[in-house]
Amino acid sequence: MQLTPIYDAEREVWHLAEAGGVIWDMVPMLTTFALTGTPDGDRLHGYRWRWCFKTELELLCSAGVFDPDTMDEPPGYLKRKGEERQAPRRDALPEYNRPKCVHGRYLDVRDCVHIACPGWTP
Ligand SMILES: [Zn+2]
Repeated sequence: MQLTPIYDAEREVWHLAEAGGVIWDMVPMLTTFALTGTPDGDRLHGYRWRWCFKTELELLCSAGVFDPDTMDEPPGYLKRKGEERQAPRRDALPEYNRPKCVHGRYLDVRDCVHIACPGWTP
């Protein structure tokens, strides 16, 4: 998506974009950076989706290639928090939008390195 970063000093977040009826922000966390998605018109309840990244650069690169219209989630995140997301036109990219664990690994590949991963079944 097209990023137009503006620092929101009041909320202490970087507002990155508005796309697909969603407000996309970068939020610094204690040890990671989070990309959050808040449906426009529902700001009262805060974000609905959140993905954590190791660095700001990884988050920005991911957000730059993320198409919220056809991609359920941005690529390359460390961990998903909040709800799982489904893109409105997810059928356009079925190979990309296969089920993933919370660490962003495809379940059918079963290569998540987290032993306690809820998506990992022996
Ligand atoms: Zn996992």
